[in-house]
Amino acid sequence: MTVKLSRRSFLAQSSAGAALIALHPYSAHAATNQAHLRIMETTDIHVHVFPYDYYADKPRDTVGLSRTASIIGDIRAEATNSLLVDNGDFLQGNPMGDYIAYERGMKDGDTHPVINAFNTLGYDAATLGNHEFNYGLSFLEKSLAGAEFPVVLANIAREQGANARQDKTLVKPYVILDRVIEMGDGTKHPIKIGVIGFTPPQVMNWDRKHLEGNVQARDIVETAKAFVPEMKEQGCDLIVALSHSGIGSADHEEGMENAAIPLAGVDGIDALVTGHSHLVFPSETYADRPGVDLAKGTLMGKPATMGGFWGSHLGLIDLLLERDGNAWRVVTSTSEARPISKRNEDRSITALVADDQKVLDAVVQEHDETLTYVRTAVGKTAAPLHSYFALVADDPSVQIVSIAQKWYVAEMLKGTEHAGLPVLSAAAPFKAGGRGGPEYYTDVAVGDVAIKNVADLYLYPNTVRAVRVNGAQVRGWLERSAGMFNQIEAGSQDAILLNPAFPSYNFDVMDGVTYQIDLSQPARFGPKGEELNPGAARIVDLAYNGQPVTDDMEFIIATNNYRASGGGNFPGTKDTIVFEAPDTNRDVIVRYIVEQGTIDPKADANWSFAPLEGTTVLFETGPKARDYMGDVKGVTLEDAGEGADGFAAFRIKL
Ligand code: MN
Ligand code: MG
Repeated sequence: MTVKLSRRSFLAQSSAGAALIALHPYSAHAATNQAHLRIMETTDIHVHVFPYDYYADKPRDTVGLSRTASIIGDIRAEATNSLLVDNGDFLQGNPMGDYIAYERGMKDGDTHPVINAFNTLGYDAATLGNHEFNYGLSFLEKSLAGAEFPVVLANIAREQGANARQDKTLVKPYVILDRVIEMGDGTKHPIKIGVIGFTPPQVMNWDRKHLEGNVQARDIVETAKAFVPEMKEQGCDLIVALSHSGIGSADHEEGMENAAIPLAGVDGIDALVTGHSHLVFPSETYADRPGVDLAKGTLMGKPATMGGFWGSHLGLIDLLLERDGNAWRVVTSTSEARPISKRNEDRSITALVADDQKVLDAVVQEHDETLTYVRTAVGKTAAPLHSYFALVADDPSVQIVSIAQKWYVAEMLKGTEHAGLPVLSAAAPFKAGGRGGPEYYTDVAVGDVAIKNVADLYLYPNTVRAVRVNGAQVRGWLERSAGMFNQIEAGSQDAILLNPAFPSYNFDVMDGVTYQIDLSQPARFGPKGEELNPGAARIVDLAYNGQPVTDDMEFIIATNNYRASGGGNFPGTKDTIVFEAPDTNRDVIVRYIVEQGTIDPKADANWSFAPLEGTTVLFETGPKARDYMGDVKGVTLEDAGEGADGFAAFRIKL
């Protein structure tokens, strides 16, 4: 069910009577020497043209340029003068992007579907996000060849000169749009609008294998300071910065990733669109930050917006411009980000806009092909990938996540100060029964692995993080995980093993070390990470390469943004983050499977319960677990009949 976006309060009946015209106050009140200009931004689209989640293989009302396009249509109807820009990260980030890059390819004359959608909507300009480099420079060039709008990026060069203005940039650093603007009195004036683009210089690390030796990156603010005066010299009346860079610190640091605030502070920039962080500006996220005025929607006094991600919002800046002699100035402005959907109190989602049919039509063929792609094999697995025993033994469904995370993080840390350290991986079974019920398990059979299955292996759209920790923190991390289990009295029979208050997503299994869990000891941490028994120790025989892990040994742990930023309150997280990946854990797993062809994530039984003489416990899992009972290593299992609510019971001899 979709409903039409409610019109704003300045709705007016047109003189013709039939159609409704929503007139923005700036358009309604612009004086003879004034004009109303609207800057519309999409950002971080990540190939989400259809309102569809290809991993889940079902429609999704929270995403899709086809929905954002309806807002674009509304906004264009509300004012005469508008610009539409995309702020980057459009080529990669969902299975349609992977389908084009890995499967269909870009032959001469092909138009990339997301570029096709942009062409349909008549974009005025776009910049490149970091993810535009994920599939290599040749793929990028072929994709951009189809764009019927200028693509600008000032801080990535084929060859660097003595300063940014001497650089041979990869694409045009900026463009000057010669436009005619309609004034308050209906007269028309030429105006030169300069549009310049920036991307995080971190692309050199994130896509080193594609970029090293081919391009070089400059600091965003340094680059802006070089080019903006040149744009002024070339006669720009107004300069808009496309900042594929988030709203971070107000203090400029050389090479900073999220540079929007210091960028806004560069003289000559009149307005900026931001992104990369997948957040919304203006929004409470950015309350009380130096350099930010939420009420005015400005950064360093310059109007700014950030339109969420995957088409979730349209970023909008309304400018009231005044012509003073031959110069233009911004008199006043407002900023907002208009959502395509809303979340109701019961967590259900209501779509706020309908699809723009011409956007769907432009991409329907690739949409259908992507559906086929996600449903067919991209690789093979030699081991069944299931989570039926993930809470009681080392498990292939968690193992594959850790293998891919370690592979990726080791590559990303090459050439950094963290390169020599052992890389461990922490991963939890996300689908492991519990409140999800007896069918709620990962279960991928031996043989073909389809893209859809990766969503099954990795449920959440997290991004990869690496933390640098010591041995004591590794131990603390595992003690936190071990709160999953009830305390078991040695010699007791058939006690219930799992603490139902403990969600499985907080049961991190650590790969790269070996350890046992002594269930006879009390848990150090409770289900929310609260320290219950500070001295308690369930983790025994913790070793790396056969050597006991000492408190001061150093390790890298590959994990996700949720855990690393404090989700679940694990020891060793938050201030230990040394790498924030641009990639989702899911994408990393897909890339790993595509590159490996066949994967064989055999669990290596690197963790197990410590033996407790004459003790048994009961454990419930999905009834399909019976098919795999014989494969489970490191734990002695026996069928204990039916459990509650459709679950199957197993007895474990500790
Ligand atoms: Mn992005
Ligand atoms: Mg393992």
